[in-house]
Amino acid sequence: DDIYSKLPGIDPSKLEVTKTITPKALVPNKDLVFGRTFTDHMLSIEWTASQGWLPPRITPYQNLSLDPATCVFHYAFECFEGMKAYKCLKDNSLRLFRPDKNMERMNKSAARIALPTFEGDKLIDLIGKLCKLDERFISAEKGYSLYLRPTLIGTQRTLGVGPPGSALLYVIASPVGPYYPTGFKAISLEATDYAVRSWPGGVGDKKLGANYAPCIVPQLRAAKKGLHQNLWLFGPEEYITEVGTMNLFVCIKNKETGQKELLTAPLDGTILEGVTRDSVLALARERLEPEGWNVAERYVKMQDLADAESEGRLIEVFGAGTAAIVAPVRNIAWKDRILHCGLKPHEEAGEVASRMKGWIEGIQYGDEEHPWSYKI
Ligand code: PMP
Repeated sequence: DDIYSKLPGIDPSKLEVTKTITPKALVPNKDLVFGRTFTDHMLSIEWTASQGWLPPRITPYQNLSLDPATCVFHYAFECFEGMKAYKCLKDNSLRLFRPDKNMERMNKSAARIALPTFEGDKLIDLIGKLCKLDERFISAEKGYSLYLRPTLIGTQRTLGVGPPGSALLYVIASPVGPYYPTGFKAISLEATDYAVRSWPGGVGDKKLGANYAPCIVPQLRAAKKGLHQNLWLFGPEEYITEVGTMNLFVCIKNKETGQKELLTAPLDGTILEGVTRDSVLALARERLEPEGWNVAERYVKMQDLADAESEGRLIEVFGAGTAAIVAPVRNIAWKDRILHCGLKPHEEAGEVASRMKGWIEGIQYGDEEHPWSYKI
């Protein structure tokens, strides 16, 4: 709940735009590295506890200047979003994918750490203006997009632990290429049993910067064993929760009924409410259930997965998130075992993951007209 709801909200009509006089050279598509280069401009909106949201500004991309005592540096008053703008090849329009979902999630994150909330529609409007201004950074080639990073920080200069009296919401944009430039590449996971990402009553369902830094050391430990990502487990039952920074889907044949099931962990407060996760579930209910699949939000234990594998009932496993859409999983290292997740040696993706990627990408780029595609 917004503790400051009586103050002025974000007002896009008050936008002030200062264009750059030193436009950047475009990085060739083949040289794009995720999140390394940024567009010419950024959007900034300051907030104070006495004035609410101040007039939005689009300015040249630039450094922030903050006092060393600023509360974000000490107590991690920071939350963010990850979303993309796509260029539609049919009508050359720019499109966002379900931006209302990102706004909803960002407001939940902000409220949890005593940062101000805002009207999502207003920020979407302003993000659209930033994308339009930096449109030349968005390649029309399939697989390319503009990664958008809305960020909200507490900016009050104080070492006192309390609600920030001022904040800054800014949006930066980074041109990105396809996650798999040469087609799918299945990944290998370490089922991490010595560290937990999230716990009941915690903040694992919020997109707080503070949730991400502690995941790097386990990530390095997995990488040392030649594995790409951590598979995060929870509790003595070793429930499967998420993979790296993606939600996880398991395709299994039900032991009793033999029915094919698409399963993912339920939103119990420990799972990030992925926009891709929600989209995969909706599309599966619409397009896979008529083919006989059962789609369910239900926990799968590591032991259930291992049993399915040894009984030949494990069909496929994939991660789902904005960066890759889907990331097929080849195998999972668990205790002293390696579980093979249904892919044949020459295969890089299972059927469900491939179809999901096609469906979602089709909507993102406007090949298929769909209410999830938001025209800027
Ligand atoms: N889980 C975590 C922990 C994440 O950081 C992300 C990326 N935001 C996801 C899942 C996937 O979410 P989305 O589909 O909204 O990108």
